[in-house]
Amino acid sequence: MARYTGPVCKLCRREGVKLFLKGDKCIQKCTLDRRSTRPGQHGASRARKESVYGKLWREKQRVRRTYGVLERQFSKHFEEAARRPGKTSENLLQILEMRLDNLVYRLGFADSRAQARQLVNHGHFEVNGRKTDIPSFIAKPNDVITVREHSKSMEYFKARALLLDQKSIPSWLSLDKDALSGRVLSLPSRAELELPFDEQLVIEYYQR
Ligand code: SF4
Repeated sequence: MARYTGPVCKLCRREGVKLFLKGDKCIQKCTLDRRSTRPGQHGASRARKESVYGKLWREKQRVRRTYGVLERQFSKHFEEAARRPGKTSENLLQILEMRLDNLVYRLGFADSRAQARQLVNHGHFEVNGRKTDIPSFIAKPNDVITVREHSKSMEYFKARALLLDQKSIPSWLSLDKDALSGRVLSLPSRAELELPFDEQLVIEYYQR
């Protein structure tokens, strides 16, 4: 399945919630505030009653689209979450949060996860001193994510360094603004993640 490259606001309209796919830009101005109907010819017509399956599938889509993960990869993350000890729903969110593209976004090196994914793909980051250009790389506590030395001289990262002061970093990450480097302090607990999902529905979707 190819990555979706169409208008991202359409995805929020489809899901009926703000998924913040444009990152900080969504806070300033959101399409959903002006136009909240579902996309398509019949989007404005009366909402259909949703089946139980539809509800589970919709929640799974919301989580998947928020993190910008393809279907196959998402189901692999679920399998890994189920293998880990503890609560599968919390494990799943932790795996998604530990993806390198998400960490680059959370550390403030990018405005959105989509932008972070592109920066990682272009080889601007290293993890524990090793170049890592795989957005789905799953980090662990104590891993250090740093902008690579030759990338620090780019105009983009020079401008980014000035903006980092305005960024709030989650409590489970630390950031060295001067070194353009961040560390994973721990896995985030559910309470630390302010996410508007019912991840238990996602688990039910895969276990149905
Ligand atoms: Fe979604 Fe952001 Fe577009 Fe609003 S502005 S609809 S939150 S992508």
